[in-house]
Amino acid sequence: MTGNANTKQDKASILLIYTGGTIGMIQNAETGALESFNFQHLKEHVPELKRLGYNVSVYQFEPPMDSSDMGPEGWQKIVGIIADNYSSYDGFVILHGTDTMSYTASALSFMLENLGKPVIFTGSQLPIGMLRTDGKENLITAIEIAAAKENGQPIVPEVCIFFENTLLRANRTRKVNADNFNAFRSYNYPPLAKVGVHIKYDTAQIYYPELRKPLKPHYLLDRNITILKIFPGMSPHVIESILQAPGLKGVVMETFGSGNAPREAWFFRLLKDAVARGLVIVNITQCVAGCVEMHRYETGQHLMDAGVVSGYDSTTESAVVKLMFLFGHGLSPDEVKEHMNCSLIGEITISDPTKQQS
Ligand code: ASP
Repeated sequence: MTGNANTKQDKASILLIYTGGTIGMIQNAETGALESFNFQHLKEHVPELKRLGYNVSVYQFEPPMDSSDMGPEGWQKIVGIIADNYSSYDGFVILHGTDTMSYTASALSFMLENLGKPVIFTGSQLPIGMLRTDGKENLITAIEIAAAKENGQPIVPEVCIFFENTLLRANRTRKVNADNFNAFRSYNYPPLAKVGVHIKYDTAQIYYPELRKPLKPHYLLDRNITILKIFPGMSPHVIESILQAPGLKGVVMETFGSGNAPREAWFFRLLKDAVARGLVIVNITQCVAGCVEMHRYETGQHLMDAGVVSGYDSTTESAVVKLMFLFGHGLSPDEVKEHMNCSLIGEITISDPTKQQS
């Protein structure tokens, strides 16, 4: 579908939430230093917004946050703002630093249950106040997408990241480039829209909730999660001390290829002991694309025998926040494993549910 956003007469209402990041910076004319600008004066800096003809309200984080400082409290704050304003707006645009945008956007996809309106994250690599900025384009198109409707219904009722001409499902994204404007990728799920002269939505890939249930915001998260990236030559002491960390509940273990790891006896024993103590260890591939298939090689099989669960084709970002979310809601290790074994909101692909792994 080539979607056209609402016409001027529709006067879509969009809430723009500026959390921080490069996009909100301008260059001080005298000193040349980058400083945050006041988004209440957004239309002075981006006069093009007036031509869109939407009602754009702004909520600005005070002070704006570099996304390296963003975490569960920031995610809860954004969820709260969306929940409080849900009925008053047609869509939401979140301006966020690019560095941890995939974590925040993935977290929101789980925290905003029954979402029926667009929540579009964007940011930029160059400040909006700079001549060659990518921020204006990203901002304007993100607002258009958040306002886009077909037959009175939002075209993209999902949490997404829009960046450099591509709209991606949030919980499938990762930041892949620190320099290029084309900074985000979704290797295991196709784009929801491509933007050129027109915005071309791929509605077959977009998630449409079947029943219009009221939004159910969730705020509970458990931080006792870690990422363990395996590599040749790992030290037993280091791995042991990670798995023995007090309070640790969940581990996203990044393995080789289709989910393989060294077959050393000490490693197997440490994993098995950790699982026996109630830890949930999720196997994610270190490759940028593809899926974990622990049945495929003996080196993956022994992880299954140790009680490690498959993360399928999940991104690390999505698996981390999904574990935070599930443990945050007080689920037992077995219940968490069960939920890791199914797609809650399109974050993993399970092509044949009978082949689910445990
Ligand atoms: N350090 C910044 C941040 O993530 C970079 C950016 O905005 O792109 O907040």
